[in-house]
Amino acid sequence: MKAVCVVHNETSTGSVSPIAQVRQAIDAAGHPALLMVDTISGLASIDFRFDEWGVDVAVSGSQKGLMLPPGLSFNAVSNKAFEVSKTGGMRRSYWDWQEMAAINPTGYFPYTPGTNMLYGLNEAIAMLHEEGLDNVFARHQRHGAATRAAVRHWGLEVLCRQQGQESGVLTAVLVPEGHSADAFRATALQHYDISLGNGLSKVADKVFRIGHLGDINDLTLAGTLTGVELGLRKSGIPHSEGGVAAAMAELECTRFEPLAAE
Ligand SMILES: *Cc1c(COP(=O)(O)O)cnc(C)c1O
Repeated sequence: MKAVCVVHNETSTGSVSPIAQVRQAIDAAGHPALLMVDTISGLASIDFRFDEWGVDVAVSGSQKGLMLPPGLSFNAVSNKAFEVSKTGGMRRSYWDWQEMAAINPTGYFPYTPGTNMLYGLNEAIAMLHEEGLDNVFARHQRHGAATRAAVRHWGLEVLCRQQGQESGVLTAVLVPEGHSADAFRATALQHYDISLGNGLSKVADKVFRIGHLGDINDLTLAGTLTGVELGLRKSGIPHSEGGVAAAMAELECTRFEPLAAE
């Protein structure tokens, strides 16, 4: 085995993997495997610590917590992974880290970079620092908790059953047996112009996903949850009314004074 690959924020289920513990398990086994992490939907929405958690390769992209269109993807690479890549023997060109690293000190790219996306990325990072990363992470945790409060009130089930591992990025919600999550999503889109995520593979048509990543605040979350509740009613999915009020109560009791930005 050369590497252990883990998804940081599992976007199809709305659960978070304990990356540091995976590293500890690899180390406890005395195994030289690299730790590779997909943090495409986790980065900039929930805490991620490349160095501290002993990650060797992280993959991320522009289109989730960084609030940009799709089009940019990037790697963070440890010295250990960089050395391993030199002796891996796999032939590559475009994806070659050596070429990229060789020209890095000059600030240039070996190929034409997505310049306009990089301007956008610069601005996204400035926005995140302006708010303060800890505040950003706390905001998403809070919005995840408020969303789960709404789901519980509706009498529906959050797909992630592992307490403490529920995602601050999105919440996947099971619809009751005998109901179609996709029909519900279509109804919500048609009547309330709200686009909810679909269930993938095993949970296709069984769950819908509420995103609360990126540029979202209490008001936009409340609007989102209202759209879901209206859609549940319109679709005839059995639920208790008042999930939005339950979410608002959760927001009220977890209201926090943002820390001064770094
Ligand atoms: C979005 C996402 C990706 C990338 O998916 P594409 O849309 O195919 O670029 C990969 N992993 C996770 C966990 C994601 O959320």
